[in-house]
Amino acid sequence: MRVLITGGYGFIGSSVAERFYKEGHKIYILDDLSTGRKENISFSHKAWILDIADRKCEEIFKANPFDVVIHLAAQVEVGKSFEDPVHDAKQNIIGLMNMLELSSKYNVSKFLFASSAAVYGDHPQLPIPEEAPLSPQSPYGLNKLAGEYYTEKWNELFGLDTLVLRFSNVYGPGQSAKGESGVISCFLNNIMKDKPLTVYGDGTQTRDFIYVSDVAEAIYRSVLSNIQGIFNLSSKTKTSVNELIATIQTFTDIKEVSYLSEKQGDIKDSCLDHSKLTEEIDWVPKYTIEAGMKNTFDWYRERKEESDPWKEQVPSRLFLSLKRSQYFPFLENLFVFALFSSLSQFLSQTVTHINPMLVYIFIIGMLLGKSQAFIAVLLATFHLITMNLSNGRELVSIFTDYGLLFQFAILLLVGLVSGYVMDRRRVREEALLDDLDELKEKYQFLESIHHDTKQNHDRLQQQIFQTEDSVGKVFEVISSLDSLESVEVISGAVKAVEKLMNVDKVALYHVNESQQFLRLAGKSGGKSFEVPRSISVMSHPLHKEIISKKKVLMNHDWENEASVMAAPVISGEKVIAVIELHEPRFDSLTLHYENLFTVISRLISSALSRGYEYETATYSQRYIRGSRILKPDVFKKMIQKREHMKEEMNIPFSLLEIPWVPELKQVIEKISSQLRDTDFLGSDEEGKLFILLSNSTEMEVDVVVERLKRQDIEVEKVNDKGIHQYV
Ligand code: NAD
Repeated sequence: MRVLITGGYGFIGSSVAERFYKEGHKIYILDDLSTGRKENISFSHKAWILDIADRKCEEIFKANPFDVVIHLAAQVEVGKSFEDPVHDAKQNIIGLMNMLELSSKYNVSKFLFASSAAVYGDHPQLPIPEEAPLSPQSPYGLNKLAGEYYTEKWNELFGLDTLVLRFSNVYGPGQSAKGESGVISCFLNNIMKDKPLTVYGDGTQTRDFIYVSDVAEAIYRSVLSNIQGIFNLSSKTKTSVNELIATIQTFTDIKEVSYLSEKQGDIKDSCLDHSKLTEEIDWVPKYTIEAGMKNTFDWYRERKEESDPWKEQVPSRLFLSLKRSQYFPFLENLFVFALFSSLSQFLSQTVTHINPMLVYIFIIGMLLGKSQAFIAVLLATFHLITMNLSNGRELVSIFTDYGLLFQFAILLLVGLVSGYVMDRRRVREEALLDDLDELKEKYQFLESIHHDTKQNHDRLQQQIFQTEDSVGKVFEVISSLDSLESVEVISGAVKAVEKLMNVDKVALYHVNESQQFLRLAGKSGGKSFEVPRSISVMSHPLHKEIISKKKVLMNHDWENEASVMAAPVISGEKVIAVIELHEPRFDSLTLHYENLFTVISRLISSALSRGYEYETATYSQRYIRGSRILKPDVFKKMIQKREHMKEEMNIPFSLLEIPWVPELKQVIEKISSQLRDTDFLGSDEEGKLFILLSNSTEMEVDVVVERLKRQDIEVEKVNDKGIHQYV
């Protein structure tokens, strides 16, 4: 199965992904990494870093035919939902809607929505069954409830197979301290950092904690089952916060526990009844709180040990954080100032026509922009004043010296111009870099979509080549028409049409010389499929039109209970047969289907024409000279083929023996004149003469016998035993 897990890099999502991966399913992840981490998944999978509400998600669904969507991506913090309810609604409602819409549009077979115990609110009856009244106490719970309604409605309105699981408080390795049941990860985080534990309330509040592997197992089983609707997914066990602390104390020391007042939206007790799910998917949680807590604690401890080497890198990290700080440009500025001020003292004695402070301001402006250039001007002015003061000048005289004031003005101008030029360049560069990043992101996204589309294209092509739907099928069809015997072509034609057009009810009628009657020549086997043995063209508008228009036609009026589609088989300019398709699937009646039918009818036309031409060309080898009597070997083969058609297509035939009479020649001529195009005269090795009546019921045979009798021609029906001598 192709399983898309939204929020697959998250705490629960990564466990669910692993569960499906272990069973050999293909894992696809859609996550914006707002709280998830790529490192949560270490096995092979395909991922897109994208918001679930983003329109671009459609490209992903278009390129990847997912079988199942497990929707876990969400804003998961109850507290945040109070701070920013609009953001919560955007993630938890609009994002969900986008996923529902795309899942139904792209024919996903199952959609699972992760809801929460938060939809029940504070409930007196514990454990809470699914039918209990719903009263969410936070925007988070309210939006989860709205999500349930949307999910159910998508099932009702668009037929998407949906399932809602209301999780109680999930905990386990890899959980962030922010989520719904963050209390366990919060406690363990604090313990690892030797910090005290904080309890909101008196610690007697209870929760239904369920271990993450139990959740992943239940999701796995529910997806494979055919359950629909809403189910609680919980441990059905109440554990108080104080009990949690006591459990932790069994494997580690706790520094201190402080109790604060309750948080807004917190409920007192919570415990969900999971009996309905147990009954449906034969699942119960495996982990007790002690076992689950021990695993989680071990995971935290291992991670702490692994993260210790970071300490060695502290100096370089200090430098990095300093570099990122806003004071770093100022420090750079001061450093360059110090360099140039000492340089200016040295240069003042040697080079007098270059003002080092001007160079300093110019460099700072070009490197660090307008604001640092302005600081550089202040520093350079200060430097010039102190230089003048140290040379014994009065402060007042400095500000009345036009030459010096002019120098200050020049410094300011250089600083502003260089800083302004630099800032402009930087703004432009940043805009270009932003554009570049955006383009890079778009390119990567499109490249991944292109890659997926190509993979799917290759897979489908591979499937087409491997299934009998293509080359194999066409080869089979052409082989079944590859005969010079018209009878064989007819039986092959029926099979070819069945195969290529995907129907099991096909009839092929011969059109007689006068184009007035159709006589059944071949049809699909099976006694349940009965069609008229002969049809009068005049009384059948569809066939009349086919014979005159010589093209595939559809029985749009659904009249004549008979065929829905029929095609002419043409030889030269004449319609020599008509193929009927009965009861093709309604949704397959497309232009492509009609074209396919035209193509196969042309193939049959050419195969039948070739057969007739061959039969005409070999007339002298097939018939006894000067007569319409088939030679014994040809006649024997013909009977064998009719027998074969009788077995395969349930088309009966009969053999009538013509006893020897002195005026045999006249008798044969009389009989010949009354035979249909599909009937034959033939002889056996001993010289006995027979009439072969194709596709005739017992009653029709009796009519023929009676008719001949009236003309003084006695014929005898050959029984099955007699016929079998030929076969
Ligand atoms: P989590 O924060 O670990 O996982 C959520 C994942 O979704 C993260 O990887 C995050 O990056 C991703 N995500 C969030 N918003 C997204 C967006 N707009 N587009 C794409 N990805 C986005 O949380 P979790 O505990 O694993 O919860 C998973 C689901 O289970 C959530 O729907 C949550 O409401 C539900 N739930 C969890 C608990 C629990 O106790 N953990 C209880 C009840 C219900």
